[in-house]
Amino acid sequence: MKINFKIKPSQQQGSSESVGQMIDRVGVEQIREQMQKKMEGLRCAEHDQVPQLEISGTGLKDLKINIRACCDKMRVQAARALK
Ligand SMILES: [Zn+2]
Repeated sequence: MKINFKIKPSQQQGSSESVGQMIDRVGVEQIREQMQKKMEGLRCAEHDQVPQLEISGTGLKDLKINIRACCDKMRVQAARALK
């Protein structure tokens, strides 16, 4: 299970993060962990590949989750597991 985790900082590097941003970061991390658990053990029988999750955005309010998989069948399975 591989997860690409791309959260863009909404402020310049080096600046201190606000409480809101910190809560966002922790929340996003929790979501990532939950999703990772749900998708554990998923593997395509046909292609021997595991689905990948791509999480991007600037915070909880702007979170984009993409599933990358070897085929449609695996992508559907992964999407189902996340529900
Ligand atoms: Zn496949």
